[in-house]
Amino acid sequence: MPLKYPHQLSKSRFVSGAQCAKKLYFERYRKELKPAITPRQQAIFDQGNLIGKMAHGCFPNGIDLSSQTHFDYTDAIDNTIVEMQNKTSVLYEAAFYHDEVLSVLDILEHDANGDIHAIEVKSSSKMYDYYITDAALQYWVMENAGHAPKRFSLMHINISYVKNGAIDMNELFTLTDITAEVIKKQAWVTKKIQALKQILQTGLEPTQAIGAHCSKPFDCDFKSHCWGNLLDKDKVFNLYNGRKKIWALYDSGIVNLADVPNDFELSHRQSCQVNGQKTGATHVDRKRIHQFLNTAAYPLYFFDFETVNFVVPVLDGTSPFEQVGFQYSLHILSSIGGKLAHKEFLAQEADFTNPHTLNPRQAMINQMKHDFGTTGSIVAYGASFEKGVIERLAEDFPADSVFLRGLNNRMIDLLTVFENAWYYTPQLGKSASIKDVLPALVPTLSYASLPINNGDLANKTFMSMIDGSFKGDVNETRNNLLAYCKLDTLAMLEIWKVLCAI
Ligand code: SF4
Repeated sequence: MPLKYPHQLSKSRFVSGAQCAKKLYFERYRKELKPAITPRQQAIFDQGNLIGKMAHGCFPNGIDLSSQTHFDYTDAIDNTIVEMQNKTSVLYEAAFYHDEVLSVLDILEHDANGDIHAIEVKSSSKMYDYYITDAALQYWVMENAGHAPKRFSLMHINISYVKNGAIDMNELFTLTDITAEVIKKQAWVTKKIQALKQILQTGLEPTQAIGAHCSKPFDCDFKSHCWGNLLDKDKVFNLYNGRKKIWALYDSGIVNLADVPNDFELSHRQSCQVNGQKTGATHVDRKRIHQFLNTAAYPLYFFDFETVNFVVPVLDGTSPFEQVGFQYSLHILSSIGGKLAHKEFLAQEADFTNPHTLNPRQAMINQMKHDFGTTGSIVAYGASFEKGVIERLAEDFPADSVFLRGLNNRMIDLLTVFENAWYYTPQLGKSASIKDVLPALVPTLSYASLPINNGDLANKTFMSMIDGSFKGDVNETRNNLLAYCKLDTLAMLEIWKVLCAI
């Protein structure tokens, strides 16, 4: 039976088509080209759904009009028509339809005057241009369906919110009025809808060259199809911090880094990368490396944090998205060729949600006071991250702020050596990450066999242990977390030793 409201475009398809007509075409006709959803993408979707539901708390007692299926919205659209006639105060997932375009709105409020307030919920703290694109499409459908909103708002996360007891929904979320921006885009939306519908009706693959639009506003799912081997390590698209230079090279017919002309303007690190591709040479600036190493005072403390960053904070005193340390590893080298000691901390996951135990951040500070001596440099990799976490601890735990800020004053950043290409070897490509530097400088050490082998996985794993969604063996996983963080600081130590020997 034909659908009562067949739709060619929805909000997500429209946003795809606004990014690239070919992307829209692939989503409709070449679904097999789309890679499977990664666990990371799924986690982002799940988080978006969770935040969407939480936002209902700011507009309570609404009627949920969610459709029963994802292909036939008849029930949702018909129920929305009824509730709009009744001017029901609050609706969730109201569905509007006009001329084969579907729009489903997160929250709709009829205010005291009976005017429509349309609200889209975003689980982000920032405003992105495509939020306006997506809201403008919704406004277009609603207006043409006879329900033009008087006000259109984005509801997003307020990062200044600090949790204190139960979550205060009205503080966690913030509303931004985007009515004027959305109305300004209506003529553009009308034209775009016509153009995109035409593409879908012809069923022919549009001609569209690759370009900067392939990564804006999203990294396109079809990149591996359209870009082929252009994403390989030896191609200009991997030029470190390349931006406009990449497109200037590509547009002039240069695809391989090895073919970049000698007179093409490059930064020092880019030159090392291009030269590495041409000759295979490793660049070592011995003088700079030793100047850097000489800034350090022994004993050396090789230090690394692992953090969680909940959108909805779970621990009092923390904010949405705040990087909250739950673990650290510390390798202490007494002197060149001297004694090595290892210390570590891993919070109890239950302490994040139990207000009657010692705050896990305080527990971590207490152990840091025990583990760090009063002299010697602290070596981190990407130290601005560790410094940021420590500074926030210093702000929130004033009694320990002198100790904590003292740590930051002693910190030096091993990343500097590789970010500035004082040491560069072609194996690094455009990366200065410790995950790439370690196998290049210390091939005997590897993250490969570790069940938890990157910071993102450590973060997601411990977050799931805190929020109760974790399914594995807790003790084994805690050991895996400890092993991962320990390797991070051991890696720094071994890289340090290689640099000292240069
Ligand atoms: S990779 Fe680029 S050209 Fe290809 S569909 Fe995606 S956005 Fe369009």
